[in-house]
Amino acid sequence: MKIIASNFKTNHTRKTTREFVEDLDNYIKDNEVKNDVFIFPSATALDNFDTQSNLNIGAQNGYFVKNGSFTGEIGSDQIDEFGIKTILIGHSERRHIIHESQNEIAKKFNFYKALGYTIIYCVGEPLSVKEQGITQTLGYIFEQLNGIDLEYEKLIVAYEPVWAIGTGVVATAEDIAVIHKKLKKKITKPILYGGSVKPENLDEILKIDNVDGTLIGTSSWDVESFKKMIDITKNNS
Ligand code: PEP
Repeated sequence: MKIIASNFKTNHTRKTTREFVEDLDNYIKDNEVKNDVFIFPSATALDNFDTQSNLNIGAQNGYFVKNGSFTGEIGSDQIDEFGIKTILIGHSERRHIIHESQNEIAKKFNFYKALGYTIIYCVGEPLSVKEQGITQTLGYIFEQLNGIDLEYEKLIVAYEPVWAIGTGVVATAEDIAVIHKKLKKKITKPILYGGSVKPENLDEILKIDNVDGTLIGTSSWDVESFKKMIDITKNNS
């Protein structure tokens, strides 16, 4: 069954996150949605949400400590407090804007793996690398898998080309098919696609071989739009 995930990034307050989660939870129950649905709210809006078992709330980030002196970071004690056991690691905005290194990303992966978290692990190349061709693109993406246990049972990978994230430029079906096929040779876990997914292109993307679901930013922040995409995902299972 296909997976659908929403990354709120730096959007929604504590109040609107709760309204969103409750609205979505009712929708999932009333429409008997069985797909795994993930929501990654911002850290300030994490809470104990009493949701359907297939509506998973995750943290967008977490430092590789239980607690300690790491100003501005959150540790696993603070995430665990809400019963949250899902985390996003390696998102391109953390790699390219916050400048997280592969070494730090792998440390996070191993720390949260040891705690048994479900990990959505993101990879993807910037435009300058894509323009160098497929060999360079694959080399770049495979380096982003350094230090990552690809056999981890609770691993979900998301392929998100940086040039397609938040830009409105979606990768072509061929672009997506080529990368997902190569990734599937290395990884037996689910592989999501992310990058300017919206209700208008979701159906086509879900029909591409080796696409097991999507990770969505911008067009998922409106609950009605996200419901529409859940419905499309349900019909593609
Ligand atoms: C993302 O940030 O993971 C993402 C895919 O964003 P967008 O859908 O806005 O491109």
